[in-house]
Amino acid sequence: MTMLSAGAAASHRRARAAAVRLCCLGYCLLALLFTTATAAPPLRVFVSILPVKTFVERIGGDRVQVTAMVQPGSNPHTYEPTPRQVAALSESELYFRIGVPFEQSWMDRIRGMNPDMKIIDLRTGISLRNMGDHHHHAGSDQEQVSKDFHIWTNPRLVIAMAAQIRDALTRADPAGAAEYEANYQTFAADLRALDAKIRSLFAGLDNRRFLVFHPAWGYFAEAYGLEQIAIEVEGKQPGAATLAHLIERAKREDIHTIFAQRQYSTAPAMAVAHAIDARVVQVDPLAENYVASLLQFARSLREAMQ
Ligand SMILES: [Zn+2]
Repeated sequence: MTMLSAGAAASHRRARAAAVRLCCLGYCLLALLFTTATAAPPLRVFVSILPVKTFVERIGGDRVQVTAMVQPGSNPHTYEPTPRQVAALSESELYFRIGVPFEQSWMDRIRGMNPDMKIIDLRTGISLRNMGDHHHHAGSDQEQVSKDFHIWTNPRLVIAMAAQIRDALTRADPAGAAEYEANYQTFAADLRALDAKIRSLFAGLDNRRFLVFHPAWGYFAEAYGLEQIAIEVEGKQPGAATLAHLIERAKREDIHTIFAQRQYSTAPAMAVAHAIDARVVQVDPLAENYVASLLQFARSLREAMQ
């Protein structure tokens, strides 16, 4: 009696387990069918730097999967892609370049590996500054002129880049057109609001000069009528004469803050800071949370200029 009952219970459990397994299988099949019917795999997109990753994600949403080449803390001026990144590029459908140096030497190799990948240059239609513009040093006619690629520090230029990103994503994935357009409109509105906030921060200010270690803020300065003075010259430490001239100028113009980046050694910035009795503020033009971090930079700059 007890045996029979135990046997019946066991066979009942087995039957229930089988039913659950069948149910699971059916559900999985359904889920799979449903997924493949509604969501295509995301577009695989590569970008050079983190702010651009954010821009593409703002426009592409769930329809894109974005990877940045230059990882947090790395310096885009000296960066070289890793073999693993280069291998991953062969799976990618789009690449948004912005002008960081490695693109120059790597683009042909990248194109060769993946001829189907579309490469979009986000500098298109933007008039580029020379990297040496508004430098403090004299006698620079021997200097090799390179173009300043830090175009994203001006939010109005980001609106132009966002439109290019929307168009490229739409060409690659026409089914997402409406979504890309709606996301672009929202992002552009955020950028216009950011621009208006920053503009009002610097309205009616007398002292419009600021001192940085690495000149990443040329387009920002241009947009808001400010002047960036850089310690670094064309990626190199300044010589003694330039440094002395710089210190003398900072004293004369009553500058008490130096903006430095973690991607660079802060030792030279500290040396200048010591000479002019200034504080060093760390800023990050390569931050992934673009809108919040640009506003934060503008606020600390405004504070330094009072
Ligand atoms: Zn830079």
